[in-house]
Amino acid sequence: MTESARADAVSTFRGVLPLDRERLSKVRVPVDAVCCGCQRVTVKSPLVRDPRSVGSFQHACKACGSVQWHNTTDRLDGITSPQVFVRAAILELADAAREGVEPDPEVLRDGVRAAESEGVA
Ligand SMILES: [Zn+2]
Repeated sequence: MTESARADAVSTFRGVLPLDRERLSKVRVPVDAVCCGCQRVTVKSPLVRDPRSVGSFQHACKACGSVQWHNTTDRLDGITSPQVFVRAAILELADAAREGVEPDPEVLRDGVRAAESEGVA
């Protein structure tokens, strides 16, 4: 299954690889995140280069009235732009090729699906 997911992704994203990570623009990834200042969980859309792992980020908190560190608790894939899935798949392909590991077929499939439905590849 991984092989066919990889073949689909390579064919969909050919021309994008090899990847220059430093030149990637950032994409917004909607997540639920907990504020380290007030512990409230709200929806945030931090700008990241690698949407596969949003982790911790600094963002304005309305309750605190200042910029605070936030920790991601959940990804909100239902409201995520297709571009984010495409970016994740391209990075997954590039990392797997560079590190000689198996790419995550789910990440590749989601990216191919997003690219085909939205024409964002
Ligand atoms: Zn806060």
